[in-house]
Amino acid sequence: MAKIFGNFKIPKELPLIPLRDLVVFPNLVVPLFVGRQRSMNALEKAMQKDHLVLLVSQKKAEIQEPSPEELYEIGCVATIMQELKLPDGTAKALVEGIRRVRILEIVQEEPYFKARVEELPEIDHKDLGAEALMRNVVSQFEKAAQLGKPIPREVILAALNIESPGRLADFIAFHLSLKTEERQEILEAVDSVKRLEKVNLLLSKELEILEIGSKIQSRVREQVNKAQKEYFLKEQLKAIQKELGGLDEQQAEIEELKAKIKEAKMPPDVEEKAMKEVERFSKMPPGSAELSVVRTYLDWLISLPWAIKTTKKLNLKEAAKILDEDHYGLEKVKERVIEFLAVHKLTKGKAKGSILCFVGPPGTGKTSIGKSIARALGRKFARISLGGVRDEAEIRGHRRTYVGALPGRIIQTLAHVKSKNPVFMLDEVDKIGVDFRGDPSSALLEVLDPEQNYSFSDHYLEVPFDLSEVMFITTANILDTIPPALRDRMEVIHFPGYTEEEKLKIAQNFLIPKQVKGHGLTKNNLEIKEDSLRKLIREYTREAGVRNLEREISSICRQVARKVVEGRKKKIKVKSNNLADFLGPTRFRYGMAEEKDEIGTATGLVWTEVGGDIISVEATLMKGKGNLILTGYLGDVMKESAQAAVSYIRSRASELGIDEDFYKKYDIHIHVPAGAIPKDGPSAGITMATSLVSALTKRKVKKDIAMTGEITLRGHVLPVGGIKEKILAAHRAGIKQVIIPEENEKDLILVPKHVQKELKFIKAKNVDEVFKAALEPNRGKKATHIREVVKA
Ligand code: ADP
Repeated sequence: MAKIFGNFKIPKELPLIPLRDLVVFPNLVVPLFVGRQRSMNALEKAMQKDHLVLLVSQKKAEIQEPSPEELYEIGCVATIMQELKLPDGTAKALVEGIRRVRILEIVQEEPYFKARVEELPEIDHKDLGAEALMRNVVSQFEKAAQLGKPIPREVILAALNIESPGRLADFIAFHLSLKTEERQEILEAVDSVKRLEKVNLLLSKELEILEIGSKIQSRVREQVNKAQKEYFLKEQLKAIQKELGGLDEQQAEIEELKAKIKEAKMPPDVEEKAMKEVERFSKMPPGSAELSVVRTYLDWLISLPWAIKTTKKLNLKEAAKILDEDHYGLEKVKERVIEFLAVHKLTKGKAKGSILCFVGPPGTGKTSIGKSIARALGRKFARISLGGVRDEAEIRGHRRTYVGALPGRIIQTLAHVKSKNPVFMLDEVDKIGVDFRGDPSSALLEVLDPEQNYSFSDHYLEVPFDLSEVMFITTANILDTIPPALRDRMEVIHFPGYTEEEKLKIAQNFLIPKQVKGHGLTKNNLEIKEDSLRKLIREYTREAGVRNLEREISSICRQVARKVVEGRKKKIKVKSNNLADFLGPTRFRYGMAEEKDEIGTATGLVWTEVGGDIISVEATLMKGKGNLILTGYLGDVMKESAQAAVSYIRSRASELGIDEDFYKKYDIHIHVPAGAIPKDGPSAGITMATSLVSALTKRKVKKDIAMTGEITLRGHVLPVGGIKEKILAAHRAGIKQVIIPEENEKDLILVPKHVQKELKFIKAKNVDEVFKAALEPNRGKKATHIREVVKA
């Protein structure tokens, strides 16, 4: 159509339609919406005349009624190819641009704009440069289409067919998404090559944007693809697992675990950790080894009493009542325990030394008192034995990386008793060892230290557990081997062991009723007479506590139960003459170590883990050359003590009425039965000396005297430990007189009054006083001499 207007003379004045957001180029067909009244009038006018109209863009699209100044100066004359009036008074028109014109003047504004115009010549010079530029532009245009610009294929083809640079410029500018100003700029460029250059520039810019856009696009696509792939794979996995029957069960398990974790009321950080483990658990394939490791770990976490407590308000009177109900005697112990409970209540268990340590021989009621404390406080009771524990991990657990790792014994026990504040008894703290696997006592220190144990870290758990509400009680047979740092933390209460009278009462009031009941009997089935009980204590047991006594009673009960069930007898009386029927021959000889006064045998008192005991020390002389033979599994200290005794006797031989050369003529053998039991310590010093002097002087040692004391080279008697236990043992054995070092006199207040009354105490400062008291006077000549010496 442009051709039609090829030589067409453009009228001088034309009706004008201002355009918003649109620039019309020559040779291009554009649809137009006409709505404004003035524009409608212009359209009307043109249609009546020659269908020609001037289309000029507004500088600002938003202005409804632009003034002449608000229009660009250069526009495009177009011919109206079609007009369609719409019912709302507006119109749609199809126009085709013809020429570029410049407005010289707006000659009329109402009822429509009319402009006087001059035609702009089309300067079109087509040389090689222009040709190259055109190719470049077209190829860029194609590229834009490839990069996703919505340009139809025909448009590209059309572009390829355009031969004039100016027209190509118009064509491409029309199809690019340009701003109105940019389009206007193209319209205003009269020189066709310059115009194409401008288009080329805009096109490059567009291309760059498209490239960046496509890069972003492809990256986004990549990410989406990856996420999709993962999702897809996971769904597939789930489907497979479901097919294998694992998923539903696992899902249910996970839900159950989560519910249990919530229920366990863990501290927030522990709960967080537990939930994380559940998360890990949920991602593991069913049946894998690690799955069961995580599952076990979660089970431990869940089973711990994070928030479970049992308590009762502490009432001291009631506590005292409970202790009395369960135990005979032990007055001092009970008193100390009540005091401790009072302090524990006031300081809330945070005071130094707030851990009780019960020290005493086995069977003296340590555990039993611990249980009563738990009962008085309304707490649960737990107990572990530390005897022989050498590995720190037993207390603190193994790290989870170990195969078959478990928490330490403390945590295990708490999970078992299901309370975070039980009375927790740690038995045999005196028997924990140290070796390459770490020092368990240092772990124990952390457990017992109120400053640290609120966040006790078990290697297996990895999360802290609060032990501060646990009431720890330790027990030991002897104090000496408890690591000092540990001992410092604890308040020691001694359980000395029982006298025969006490044992009798304990048996009658506690052990027998307990065992009778425990074997399903009643008191009508069994009667143990007092004299038989006494015999049982004396001749079937020899102990500080009542453990073996209880065992023997239990043995009697078993046999009685059998007889009752077999219907042989309804009531059985155990008397001293039929005791052997139940328990076999007697095991110990009751009474003094010796039956009559003997030469060369003295009775000593020892103190072992199982309480005090009596021993006889034997000395004998053989022709020889002064060798000293020591037997009976004696420790170094005891051997040295024997040598000191020999040296003292040599130095005092003449005063003691002994041949001064005895050590040249005789070998001396000292033996301490029982030979298989290890013995050590200096406290048998005076006993060895006494037996030796007896052997040398042939003076008899009195059978009803027992003794303990260390000897020095100058014959001084030095104090020793365990006086109370030793005296109780002497009393049990029917000894009448006890020789103790003078400096031990102060310890006698610990000995029960009735025991003190029944014994005569000889407090020796010098070993000569021991000889005087223990040895029968010699009837011979030298005996007088000795007596004088002793007096001196
Ligand atoms: P330990 O822990 O010191 O080895 P236990 O507490 O196990 O000793 O005591 C052994 C047995 O003797 C238990 O059955 C206990 O009840 C009983 N028993 C110990 N001392 C007494 C006592 N004073 N009164 C009543 N029963 C006692």
